[in-house]
Amino acid sequence: MAAGAVHKGSLLGIEHLEVAEMESILRLARKLNVNRPQPLLRNRRIALLFYETSTRTRTSFEFAAKALGATTTLVQTAGSSIEKGESLLDTGYTLRALGADAIVIRHPSSGAPSHLAKHIGIPVINAGDGMHEHPSQALLDAYTILQHKKTLQGLKVAIIGDIFHSRVARSSIHLLSKFGVHITLCGPQEFVPDVAATLAKGLRIARNMEEALHGADVVMLLRVQKERLSGLQIREAEYVDRYQMTPEKLRLAKRDALLMHPGPIIRGMELTSEVADGAQSLILQEVANGVPVRMAILVRALAKTVARVGNPRKSTTAGKVSTKTKKTTGGRASR
Ligand code: ASP
Ligand code: ASP
Repeated sequence: MAAGAVHKGSLLGIEHLEVAEMESILRLARKLNVNRPQPLLRNRRIALLFYETSTRTRTSFEFAAKALGATTTLVQTAGSSIEKGESLLDTGYTLRALGADAIVIRHPSSGAPSHLAKHIGIPVINAGDGMHEHPSQALLDAYTILQHKKTLQGLKVAIIGDIFHSRVARSSIHLLSKFGVHITLCGPQEFVPDVAATLAKGLRIARNMEEALHGADVVMLLRVQKERLSGLQIREAEYVDRYQMTPEKLRLAKRDALLMHPGPIIRGMELTSEVADGAQSLILQEVANGVPVRMAILVRALAKTVARVGNPRKSTTAGKVSTKTKKTTGGRASR
């Protein structure tokens, strides 16, 4: 089948998403709560197509869909026809023929969700593709920061670790730079090549933690993506020595700096247990925020007209749910 238009409910990445659209997802997420289920997607079927492992992303998309009244099914490589060699598109067409209204996909190849979206005509949501993007993670991280800071604009964020192999870093860099954040990337040359500075405007690279952490409002740590190193050898002891986050190093950032990590965390590698469990750590809050943010992403994908959240008498178009939140200008998000 020839490629066609991507369904506008799709979420393939942050790079091409406008600030207004992201603000609208974040506003909608603030009105949704897994503990107050709303049947906005009743009778809708959402396929979760996971070619890679996942704990957080898969569970939160599933809880999100169910809290909205949708039916979900999980298709994983093991136990499906993918193991028998069925192509991505054929699996997609099969799910659509079975009645799927949207597909949430995680795939080891960058660009796979976009390839599927161009052919399938139903919303496709990227739940992480190779080393490319992980848009829902970047949105839930922005949502989490905005629970603690009034605005993203002007914040200093240090992103530390394996940036080169991280789709989370790529999506977060696009998002944060669109919102006017000052970003410093920190890590050794193999994880933060000089070319990383060209990902967005105004990115700074620091090779040592002192420089990266000085004045930081937010510190984002990343896991060493061992599954993507393709032969690259890292000297673990040296990495731990220079880049592991410890309570002493965290003190180099602002006193009220927020400590974030998309998970899974590897204690003893990119951070110590004291940091992971410390007062500044938002790691589990990020996990929890994955649910309302993914509820908003699914509503945007599928609800044609949704009951106005919080005011069931009026209805409005998904993604345009009005809010009492202050109006924001481009490049700026408020809580
Ligand atoms: N990769 C992590 C996990 O397996 C987080 C995610 O799903 O995005 O849980
Ligand atoms: N959970 C994130 C991802 O799936 C980050 C990680 O796996 O380290 O990309």
